[in-house]
Amino acid sequence: MSNLDASPAEQDCRAKHDPGPVAELYQARDVPLGGVRGVHVLRTLPQRVLPTVGAWCFLDHFGPHSAAMNVNPHPHIGLQTVTWPFEGEIRHRDTLGSDVVVRPRQLNLMTAGRGIAHSEFAVPGAPAGHGLQLWTALPAGHRTTDPHFEQHKTLPVYEHPGLRAIVFLGTLDTVTSPATTYSPILGADLTVNPGAEVTIPLTHYHEHALLLIDGDLTAADTDLQPGPLLYLGTHRSDLTLSSRTGAHAILLGGEPFHEDIVMWWNFVGRTHEEIEQARTDWEKHDQERFPDIAGHTVQERIPAPPLPGVRLKPRGRGH
Ligand code: MN
Repeated sequence: MSNLDASPAEQDCRAKHDPGPVAELYQARDVPLGGVRGVHVLRTLPQRVLPTVGAWCFLDHFGPHSAAMNVNPHPHIGLQTVTWPFEGEIRHRDTLGSDVVVRPRQLNLMTAGRGIAHSEFAVPGAPAGHGLQLWTALPAGHRTTDPHFEQHKTLPVYEHPGLRAIVFLGTLDTVTSPATTYSPILGADLTVNPGAEVTIPLTHYHEHALLLIDGDLTAADTDLQPGPLLYLGTHRSDLTLSSRTGAHAILLGGEPFHEDIVMWWNFVGRTHEEIEQARTDWEKHDQERFPDIAGHTVQERIPAPPLPGVRLKPRGRGH
C-alpha cells in the first residue's frame, strides 16, 4: 500500500525522549486514499508528538472494504513495508520480479533499502479487504541495503492461557518471527479470549503501543475502543490485558528509534536532498533504482506529488 495523499505534508513530529510507563491515546486520522471509490484508511502513526514506536513509523488500518483496493506501482526508500491482512487476499508485484498473493495471517515484508517499487491489488472474488499496512524505518547502517522481498506463510505463536499471539515481526518473550529485522522490534497479532485476564512479558527498555481491532480490551487502566492507538511508553516489564467479550488487537514495540528521519510521501530518509533525489529518480523512470514492474505499463505508475515549497527537515524524538 501507498501513501496516496495528493499533497502530503511534511510529518512534523516531536516526542519525549524516554517517557517511562505512560498510557496515552492517539486518535486515528481518517485519510482518503483518493480515486472514485472513496477508499480511506485509519492512520495512527506517525503522530506529531509520536513519530515512531520503536522503528515503527507508519500504521494504517484499512477496511473492511467491499471496494477493491488496488494500488498501482509506486516507490519506497529507507523503510520496510509490512502487510498483514485479516481478511481478503492481496497480489503483490515488485521491481525484483516478485509476484505473490498474501492471505490472512501471512506476512509480506518488503525491505526497500536504497529503492524498490511495487503494486498491490485485491484478488478478484476474495472477501473484503481488511488489515494493516505498517512501515519500519531502517536504521543508518542498513537504510541503503539492497532491496528484497520475503513472504512468511507460517509464523510462530506465543501461547498463554486466554491469549494467542502470532509474532509476525521481532520477538515476544522467547518467540521470534523468522522475518528479517534491522532493529530490536516487536509486532504481534493478539487474540484474547472472552473473560480472560492475561499478563504478557515485555522488554522493559523498549517502548510499546496497542491497537484494538475488534472487541473490548482493557490495558494499563485504559478501556480501549477500536480506532485510537494506546501508547504505553517505556519501562514496562509486563502488560496485563483483560477482555469481557474477547478481543483482536495488535501489539507493537521496539527499542526507541533515536535517529532523526525525514518522512515524505513513500520515502524515509535523512535529508531534503535525499528525498528530492528519490523523487527525481522515480519521476525520470530511473531503471537502475526503480525498474519497471512486469505486467504494469509505464502509464500505471503513480506520479510523485510536488515537494512542498519549504525544505524538508529531519524530525526526531525529544530534541
Ligand atoms: Mn507501498
